[in-house]
Amino acid sequence: MELSDESEDFRDRLSTISEQGDRVWVYPKKPKGRLYKRRIWFSYSLLLLFFAGPFIKIKGDPILLLNIIERKFIIFGIIFWPQDFYLLVLSMIFLIVFIVLFTVIYGRLFCGWVCPQTVFMEFVYRQVEYLIEGNNNKQRKLDNQPWDFEKIWKKSAKHLVFLAFSLITICTFVAYIFGVDELGQMVANHFTTSRVLMFVMIGLTGAHYFIFAKFREQVCIIACPYGRLQGVLLDRNSIQVSYDYKRGEPRGKHNPLENRETSGKGDCIECGSCEVVCPTGIDIRNGSQLECINCTACMDACDAVMTRINRPKGLIRYASERTISEGTHLKFNGRVMFYTVVLTGLLGLIAYLFTIRTEVETTILRVQGSLFQEYDSLHISNIYVIQVVNKTRKELPINVILEEPNGEIKMMGNTLLVKKGEMGEANFLVVLPKAELKSSQTKIEFKIVSGEKEIEEVESTFNGPLELNKKHQ
Ligand code: SF4
Ligand code: SF4
Repeated sequence: MELSDESEDFRDRLSTISEQGDRVWVYPKKPKGRLYKRRIWFSYSLLLLFFAGPFIKIKGDPILLLNIIERKFIIFGIIFWPQDFYLLVLSMIFLIVFIVLFTVIYGRLFCGWVCPQTVFMEFVYRQVEYLIEGNNNKQRKLDNQPWDFEKIWKKSAKHLVFLAFSLITICTFVAYIFGVDELGQMVANHFTTSRVLMFVMIGLTGAHYFIFAKFREQVCIIACPYGRLQGVLLDRNSIQVSYDYKRGEPRGKHNPLENRETSGKGDCIECGSCEVVCPTGIDIRNGSQLECINCTACMDACDAVMTRINRPKGLIRYASERTISEGTHLKFNGRVMFYTVVLTGLLGLIAYLFTIRTEVETTILRVQGSLFQEYDSLHISNIYVIQVVNKTRKELPINVILEEPNGEIKMMGNTLLVKKGEMGEANFLVVLPKAELKSSQTKIEFKIVSGEKEIEEVESTFNGPLELNKKHQ
């Protein structure tokens, strides 16, 4: 899109910072339209999931728990213990690759639809503001009027609701770390045993309130690292909310008596509807900009205008720079298909990693530094250590059975009982008849069982004296 030097001015400054360096407060008009309705449903579903998460339990455990302190995670009911940490790290790496590839193709779709900053800002805090202070013009008027009764009660009510909501959000967030029951206990005890946590929660509530009451769109514009990456991730083929300048230019005011197709004017009637709804205060007609979070509010606003003036919708739509410049529409072409297959493959890989994870892990090793012992005149013994990691939700009694060769196992101490989420350890002797020893290192096989259930088969070696072996050969 070719613009004059003057019209490129917007690239030299942020839309929310004045030339004097002051913050320009954005008063976006409440959006309405087809996409906005979909976003409402989608965002409230996400919020419901977030706030209900700590209360939904599977077999007594929450459906989602992110206890970074004890390195215990529950994701959709699957428990991950510290021993599974590598899985989470691998999943994170795959997720980063996924995000990069996703952005190359689908642009900032995530920012507009899923990002917590957008969801909370547009569908919680902004909604409270519309409810108490009214739409954009009323908000502006209220801010400019003196501190009379109306302004005092409206501002106080709004900020009290903001604070209450920030506190609820942080409590939910903390419940994801400690579990809702433990948090409930801490509250019931007035945080007497967890003063530090109480101050952390107060600090986080303050930070959350500040972000949504004051900092707002600045998070997306200057603080978010994902936003900063857009410049390198997006290319001419990335799908973004775009203004069709081929169709829209040259702009001109709407005249109901004029036939727009023959007048030489483009479809943009310079009504400014797309600008007033923008939560980051930009004009999408200036082309792709870092500030655009792809919230689609301008798409809905422009579609409403196009319907009113009897022109086709989609002057602002999801499109790539290439399709706009070539005057074509988005197609599910080979490139998009390839990336989508790769993305699906990555998701499949993450799912696969989760499924191959075993619930019980067993290791059997000969005790370090130990040699064989003469058990009696006919038998030799070796001492072993068994370590069992129990990732299930119940305590497991563990038994070791010797499968190969013929011999005996003598546990040292009581039956090994491994508590849920813990690692248990025990020593045992393997006693083999000297006749069974074929070399100084005999392969032996164990079967690990819990009650009736076989857990796994483990192999190891048995040490024996060379001379004895020779005698028996
Ligand atoms: S809403 Fe559509 S018609 Fe109005 S200014 Fe924006 S692009 Fe032009
Ligand atoms: S330009 Fe449109 S899509 Fe981008 S942030 Fe503004 S309203 Fe949302």
